[in-house]
Amino acid sequence: MLDLTGKNALVTGIANNRSIAWGIAQQLHQAGANIGVTYLPDEKGRFEKKVRELADELNPAFYVPCDVQNDQQVEDTFATVAEKWGKLDILIHCLAFADKEGLTGDFTAIPREAFTKSLDISTFSLTRLARSAKPLMTEGGSIITLTYLGGVKVIPNYNLMGVAKAGLEMSVRYLAAELGGQKIRVNGISAGPIRTLASSAVGGILDMIHHVEEIAPLHRTVTQIEVGNTAAFLASDLASGITGQIIYVDSGYEIMGM
Ligand code: NDP
Repeated sequence: MLDLTGKNALVTGIANNRSIAWGIAQQLHQAGANIGVTYLPDEKGRFEKKVRELADELNPAFYVPCDVQNDQQVEDTFATVAEKWGKLDILIHCLAFADKEGLTGDFTAIPREAFTKSLDISTFSLTRLARSAKPLMTEGGSIITLTYLGGVKVIPNYNLMGVAKAGLEMSVRYLAAELGGQKIRVNGISAGPIRTLASSAVGGILDMIHHVEEIAPLHRTVTQIEVGNTAAFLASDLASGITGQIIYVDSGYEIMGM
């Protein structure tokens, strides 16, 4: 029943084979979707090379450089989508950033620059990408972002990213309210802790994982592929009645009080 054949999916946030976006891209591809990939450009083109080496097996329709802080690159990304596909069905927003000083130490010590940069990349970018996706989602669509419990409850060291995720989760609701009239659904997946490049910047990620293994009903953390399965479901018609929601894919950790 889960069939994404003929659907066009733009996937952001693949950095390496541990990236959650990679798990999502694989499962969307497995369900039949066409994949387009963005990467964060660097001067020497190393990130592009890495992403291409990894994602080539999914036969992406295109690779485009897209730093979400760069409006021109965002516009060029969606111009490529329009040129290659004509319409977009699925947008995966799977990226975040915070300077080290936002992920350790006292919350009161977070510098203004770090705060602004983190919320621009991690939070505003969803709205920015949705703005450009909207005119291309001519047959409706599904926008999916990635969040974490640290946006709802205090988690040691998650600090600045917690504020970014709180804003992101509220953006999901406002975007869902606006875009519902165009049959565009907007949802977030709140994933349990997974070892990735981004999460290794958060102090104590391994402790977080061990804590989940101890406390969560399923006594383990989740995999990128499990998050990818939920993304494929949310992208599909099986989830046609779901919008504005945050779905927890966390082995049940979120329900526990003690
Ligand atoms: P990754 O490091 O694999 O992915 C983060 C991605 O964000 C990278 O591809 C990175 O690019 C990209 N990125 C950073 N800055 C920018 C920018 N300015 N423009 C475009 N892309 C940018 O880590 P994850 O897979 O863990 O993270 C993916 C999402 O999942 C994030 O939103 C994260 O908060 C969320 N999440 C992660 C959890 C975890 O435990 N890992 C748990 C719950 C949610 P590059 O690496 O090339 O710099």
